[in-house]
Amino acid sequence: MDCAVTGDVDLTKLDKFDVNLFELLYAPSENKTKVDLKDIDEAKEWLEVSKTSNKLTNPMVQLFDKLKTIKENYGASPEDIGIDKDELYLMAIKHKNIDEHSVSVGGRVYSALPIAQTANERVQDYIDNHVKDAPSGFDLQEQIAKNRKKIQEKLNMPDEAWDTYAGQIKYAITSGEQLAEIIDIPQSLIDDIQRVVGVFRMRISPYYASLIIPGEVNDPILIQSVPTGDMVDNRGINIEPVASDHSPARLIDQFYPRVLTIKATNMCAMFCTYCLRLDHISDKDWVSSKNTYEEALNYIRGNTAVRDVLITGGDALALSNKRLEYLFEELDKIPHVKIKRIGSRIPIMTPQRIDDQFLEICAKSNAIKPLRFVTQINTVQEITPEVHDAFKRLSKVTSAILNQAVLLRGVNDTQNKMWKLSELLQESYIRPYYLFNCSFRNPEFGHLRVPISIGRELVESMYGNIAGDAIPRYLATAGGKIPLHRDNVAQINEGGDYILRKPWSGEEVPYPDMSMEEYNKPQSFDKYIQE
Ligand SMILES: *Cc1c(COP(=O)(O)O)cnc(C)c1O
Ligand code: SF4
Repeated sequence: MDCAVTGDVDLTKLDKFDVNLFELLYAPSENKTKVDLKDIDEAKEWLEVSKTSNKLTNPMVQLFDKLKTIKENYGASPEDIGIDKDELYLMAIKHKNIDEHSVSVGGRVYSALPIAQTANERVQDYIDNHVKDAPSGFDLQEQIAKNRKKIQEKLNMPDEAWDTYAGQIKYAITSGEQLAEIIDIPQSLIDDIQRVVGVFRMRISPYYASLIIPGEVNDPILIQSVPTGDMVDNRGINIEPVASDHSPARLIDQFYPRVLTIKATNMCAMFCTYCLRLDHISDKDWVSSKNTYEEALNYIRGNTAVRDVLITGGDALALSNKRLEYLFEELDKIPHVKIKRIGSRIPIMTPQRIDDQFLEICAKSNAIKPLRFVTQINTVQEITPEVHDAFKRLSKVTSAILNQAVLLRGVNDTQNKMWKLSELLQESYIRPYYLFNCSFRNPEFGHLRVPISIGRELVESMYGNIAGDAIPRYLATAGGKIPLHRDNVAQINEGGDYILRKPWSGEEVPYPDMSMEEYNKPQSFDKYIQE
């Protein structure tokens, strides 16, 4: 640094960011241009405020930021515009003295502000375009209300039926012709649907159908709910259903020692086109008798390693409240069962199902042992005010609400769609928990799969850009859940030091490891008990 210090200025009080900032301000410039008088006046005004203000750091930040801008825009140093260097030193020291954490003005102006600026640039496209790129059920309210009106008219469906789960199922759309009545779809699609509904059932609640945006060929709601010719045309080896080799007892699936599922029904409010339990789509609906549940419960009663039981299906909420109450009560009586989960996508297809009686049953059971609600939302288009409200109410009577999304082509496979899904879930009282890679098991939905490399990019793009607890874990299901995240260890040096990579910037940082030798030494408290 060529700038000498005079007077009482103590250079050691400046940190390296201050030094960098001063170097930048006083660096020689080749082509200086005339500084706008307005800029000079502003800088001088901030200097005056800085001198008189003994409590605020902002005037000094403004002063130095202005000087930095002047240097960058005109090549002019503070001296060129008549500001004394010693005075600036005093201001820099004053800034550090006022700040509780001794942060220097150089740290703020030279480093932190540019970093914040770069960070903002990473999310700018998302902030500017999320409504266009990933419209939510909130963003689409007007269109959805119009759709609802049309659907109710065409189906001759009264409001009272709309407002109940039974009504939504009763009026469900099950054929291509019915669908064509309520939404403009090309004749070729209608023909295709008619060709496959004999093999794969279709069931779209009028509420869920109201989320379809007319004229969108690849509408995320259509993709998820309407079986297309691809499903019968995709050929490949069909792997046995998940349950066949993991079911130690009737209705039970068990991959892990401490957690298992009871598949309490095969019923769902809809038939998702990518469903892992695809086989049940071609099946008839069933609900088990109490005797069957007793067999499943007996397996759990006799297996004291099991602590976490997941009631699923199909969709657990296809069961009556009475049935669910019975299952919760029985599970709550088993001492080694410590927590429960219920798995359901029904609040997305028919939020009307979350009635007061069900909420009371949850509250009662949750008060005995924690009850978590596991759901599946794949696109923000599924998050409407009704869905938001259903989960808000559920959040008051459960210990957690977790989302398992499936990564699906055309539904959620871009950055803006995935970021918004994560954020809007969180704002709807739901924790993004898992993101599943769409399975290879069933060739029928090959057309919906997304390459793992894209999934990794998507999940990784969330780090440092959206809240940490809104980032799901990315998994493959292949006989249990297997993490797919990319490793952010860039390099392991000899001697055990790691080089880590920041997912949001690519910057590499050294990270010295604990050595095995140190780790294997006796612990410090050991010495007190040694004779
Ligand atoms: C997903 C799943 C579980 C639960 O796994 P977690 O990782 O604990 O959420 C348990 N059993 C089966 C059969 C599953 O598919
Ligand atoms: S709700 Fe779940 S189980 Fe039912 S069809 Fe959809 S993905 Fe399959």
